[in-house]
Amino acid sequence: MTTTPATPAASTPAASTPSTPSTSATSAASTPSLTSPAPLTLIGLGPMGHAMATTLLDKGHQVTLWNRTASRADDLVERGAILAATPEEAVAANELVILSLTDYDAVYAVLEPATAALPGRVVVNLSSDTPKKAREAAAWAAGHGAVHLTGGVLVPPNGIGKPEASTFYSGPREAYDRHRATLEVLTGATDYRGEDAGLAALMYQLNMVIFWTSVSSYWYAVALAKANGLSAADILPYASLNMAGMPEFLSFYSSRIDAGNHEGDVDRLAMGLASMEHVVDTHADSGVDAALPSAVADLFRRGMEAGHAADSFSSIVGLLGAATPRNG
Ligand code: NDP
Repeated sequence: MTTTPATPAASTPAASTPSTPSTSATSAASTPSLTSPAPLTLIGLGPMGHAMATTLLDKGHQVTLWNRTASRADDLVERGAILAATPEEAVAANELVILSLTDYDAVYAVLEPATAALPGRVVVNLSSDTPKKAREAAAWAAGHGAVHLTGGVLVPPNGIGKPEASTFYSGPREAYDRHRATLEVLTGATDYRGEDAGLAALMYQLNMVIFWTSVSSYWYAVALAKANGLSAADILPYASLNMAGMPEFLSFYSSRIDAGNHEGDVDRLAMGLASMEHVVDTHADSGVDAALPSAVADLFRRGMEAGHAADSFSSIVGLLGAATPRNG
């Protein structure tokens, strides 16, 4: 990626005169990589899209925007971004079209009225949804002459523009290579997972199950602390230490899980269940909701019923999945 100083964003209303697609999807794919800053369209100005637009303007990109609530673009237009009047006008303005929308229902709500402008476009879809929907969207885009790259951003909005921030991508390799310099303005690291549009969404969702359940465990600990006269600040050092120990824990178990080793030499599921019951009882005694710890205790009970009392609690993994991967 080039580090050439930014060219000020153009303020000409390019978006009001939709351009003819400059390349077909195929020729875009076979053309050499574009250096940054390249002009682009960004649709969606929630906290994430707004942070992306700000970063792209900072780096000198000419950015054409569209958002359902147009006023969210006001400060960006003041800084030189171009606000398109319609999604079609926004899509027509540039070969690279980045989407940052709530989900794929929102993607179709925005793009269906804009299909006339889609041929030749590379749609980088950073909206979250399932791998199945990502594959369907890739086929839908191809049916309209566009290339779809799925993305899954791994940082919150304040991580956008940082070198250590990372995003998963999957879809046509040529399109990723061609626009990589621009994508690495958004997050300094990109992890291309392969041609299958679903792979980036899959990687994103499996990180989300870790993130949402882990952070929810923290909400439960804070509620328990507060019910007993402690503050979130009081437990911060211990909660942080607990989380900081996770990489070593994961690394120990991942190699054993992949080797099919659930030996109860270090821990036993029966101990895990007893411990979880203490957690559930402590919540109940404190008048605090126990839904999340109870769900974990139930899971451990299932493992016990399946005969894993003396096995490691990693044996739970075997209870959870379908035997055959589903690629729907
Ligand atoms: P928001 O849900 O806050 O932003 C949603 C954007 O989608 C807004 O621009 C909103 O428009 C638009 N939108 C929603 N529904 C429709 C619709 N039916 N028609 C047209 N536009 C619609 O999400 P964020 O900005 O926080 O995130 C964007 C994506 O990035 C999400 O998929 C999220 O999962 C993902 N992500 C977010 C992270 C975060 O920490 N925020 C972290 C990593 C990924 P309007 O302004 O008019 O409401």
